[in-house]
Amino acid sequence: MDEILNKPIKEMANMEFECSCGKHHKIEMKHIYVGQGVSSKIVDIVKEVLPKQILLVSDNNTYDALGRAVEGKLKEAGYIINSIVLSRQGDLVPDERAIGRVLVEIDDNTELLVAVGSGSINDIARIISAKTKIPYVIMGTAPSMDGYASTVSPLIIDETKVTYPGVAPYAIIADSNIMKDAPFEMICAGFGDILGKYTALSDWMLSHKMNDEYFCHTTETLVREAMNKCFENIEGAVNRDAKAIGDIAEALILSGVAMTLSGNSRPASGAEHHLSHYWEIDKISRKLEHPLHGNSVGVGTVISALIYKELKIEEKYGIKVPSPEEIIKLLDSIGAASSPKTLGIEKELFHRSVIHALEIRPRYTILQYAKNENKLEECADKLTNLFYGEE
Ligand SMILES: [Zn+2]
Ligand SMILES: [Zn+2]
Repeated sequence: MDEILNKPIKEMANMEFECSCGKHHKIEMKHIYVGQGVSSKIVDIVKEVLPKQILLVSDNNTYDALGRAVEGKLKEAGYIINSIVLSRQGDLVPDERAIGRVLVEIDDNTELLVAVGSGSINDIARIISAKTKIPYVIMGTAPSMDGYASTVSPLIIDETKVTYPGVAPYAIIADSNIMKDAPFEMICAGFGDILGKYTALSDWMLSHKMNDEYFCHTTETLVREAMNKCFENIEGAVNRDAKAIGDIAEALILSGVAMTLSGNSRPASGAEHHLSHYWEIDKISRKLEHPLHGNSVGVGTVISALIYKELKIEEKYGIKVPSPEEIIKLLDSIGAASSPKTLGIEKELFHRSVIHALEIRPRYTILQYAKNENKLEECADKLTNLFYGEE
């Protein structure tokens, strides 16, 4: 029944099955390739779509890392390639400007988008694909976030973060030989985003217990198994071993697949993400740099785990969350930030975020539980003292 659990990621593409949760699950993506040397698969995928013309989207870093090679390979295979390299001053942001820049390059003959990059490039390609109905293939260059297989596009519009509905990519290609050379902070960020699944899954379970919210054990198991694989070889990730980096990429993509299965971001995003979004939105509104998504999710996971411990959720409801110490140890072992202070979150912002992050979106998490129990302010005070001291 839950055959998906025995399948390699490649075979999950295009899969449909009846699940023990009672739902009929369907994965829309046609292909998922993760591993060493899989970027060569792009030629076969393009052959299948038979486009008249391809728009290749990258930025100046990802063009050098992979885009140029892909462009060459597809030209060699006889396709007409229109290549746009988004230049970045500082970080590339998926905003009106970048989206508009790509849109003007699309003409009637464009029948496929090939996006080469990670978070921002993927978000840009996804919203354009959703609006134009032109399919897109994402060729990941960094295992930095779990958005590859997601179906929503978080964009920066009017200098605020807004999430728009998008589409699943036609195919995902994650070549670990390319990803292992990504900036190390991006690898750390991906690791942090994976770590966040611990508390995301616990929040989902908590809501299942408290509110009878729909829950899928198969989806949970899928995410947990992928996650554990990454934690078994952190040293490999630190040494940029292609296998370990491939495991991180796979867990991130699977977490996107899990969202497709549950029909929302429940298995991938809970209080740790709300905290991270709260910090990010606040920094954007003040025109300040903010940490990479996965780095703040990692710290959000520590905070969430501390609240789980403080409110004795395991004792009361049998929902197991790793101890904050264990999560800090995992973050430390890869070299990622493990406290809001080292992440660059100011004391006042931190205190405010614990109380108000639940307003980011209506979703029951440990923060909502704490609020309902009249414990949220107390948690905010305690945690602020823990990380920033009394003064
Ligand atoms: Zn299910
Ligand atoms: Zn995330």
